[in-house]
Amino acid sequence: MALRVGVIGGGQLARMMIAPAVELGLELRVLAEDEGMSARLAATAVGDYRDLDTVRAFAKDVDVVTFDHEHVPQEVLRALVEEGVAVHPGPDALQFAQDKLVMRKRLTELGVPQPDWAAVRNVDELQAFLDDHGGRAVVKTPRGGYDGKGVRVVRSAEDASDWFDAVAAESASGGDALLVEELVSFARELAQQVARRPSGQMVAYPVVETVQRDGVCAEVLAPAPGASERLSRVAEEIGREIAEGLGVTGMLAVELFETDDDRILVNELAMRPHNSGHWSQDGAVTGQFEQHLRAVADLPLGDVSPRAPWSVMVNILGGPTEGTFEDRFDAAMTEQPAAKIHTYGKAARPGRKVGHVNVAGDDLDDVVYIARAAAAHFA
Ligand code: ADP
Repeated sequence: MALRVGVIGGGQLARMMIAPAVELGLELRVLAEDEGMSARLAATAVGDYRDLDTVRAFAKDVDVVTFDHEHVPQEVLRALVEEGVAVHPGPDALQFAQDKLVMRKRLTELGVPQPDWAAVRNVDELQAFLDDHGGRAVVKTPRGGYDGKGVRVVRSAEDASDWFDAVAAESASGGDALLVEELVSFARELAQQVARRPSGQMVAYPVVETVQRDGVCAEVLAPAPGASERLSRVAEEIGREIAEGLGVTGMLAVELFETDDDRILVNELAMRPHNSGHWSQDGAVTGQFEQHLRAVADLPLGDVSPRAPWSVMVNILGGPTEGTFEDRFDAAMTEQPAAKIHTYGKAARPGRKVGHVNVAGDDLDDVVYIARAAAAHFA
């Protein structure tokens, strides 16, 4: 019987696992939040991933449970594990992608390079950190942030007073501190992806450059242009060390800062396929969605070599303001036949990730031009 992989969360990441699952002969089942989700084609259940009974019923009919996001509560995950369900990544690993304070503490223990940070419980503690760090810092809510929501640059402790009020209200559930970090002066942002099997086998993708606009990933260049051998090696070592040290199974993305003085610091982690790895669908021998499935199903991992010297991914943010996505296909495909267009089946909305374009080739400037030109058809 085909191995059944259950994905909790029906967003675009689950959607992009569908094709590789079919090709690998895996049976993909998705627990979607509602019927209109991106991965509706594979949704076998609709319900609330925070509800143990819902998740338990879903998990009963699969061989392994994995995720499209990191929001399934620890209690739910731990209950599944206790009942003998294979969960990848498991709760012990996933906690470090769910809570940025827990992650900072653990990465400090592992000796991984990070921005200076502290857990702050009130305005006075934040002010003390600001005084030690030139009067500027980045405050983050430890849980639930994405695409820059939950991240704020502050110049005075008062700038975060509303967030302290919000965490105080939540303190019954353990959320009693904010994370504060030094404001890193970075030359650029990078991402390192690693896949790890339960057996421990690991493969590391080339380090990539991620370009963010307004806190949202806009473009990814693979490999990171101008990356020295040292940079690539250090990024890979960091990725492998974290995957191993935290016991990650499946895909791990490590978001990194490359500082003005050539240091590499870890920003945050994702334990699932990640926007920084979409290029690999068309640009690597094994794309990250196939790789994630192979890793969580404990199958031998695939070759991560790039298929071309350069790959570029451009996100389609917002989507067509008039008409539908499909209306734009003809012109986009006719004018840019080298572009691989991926759509998420989502309604257009300002700033929303509704698709992306991948292009691979020999000349970076050409590849960037084609990818941007194709994506521009969907604005
Ligand atoms: P999210 O969980 O919303 O993705 P991140 O922690 O990745 O939040 O932060 C979003 C963006 O904010 C980062 O991509 C980076 O551009 C900026 N940022 C985050 N932390 C820092 C920092 N310590 N110093 C400077 N910029 C930062």
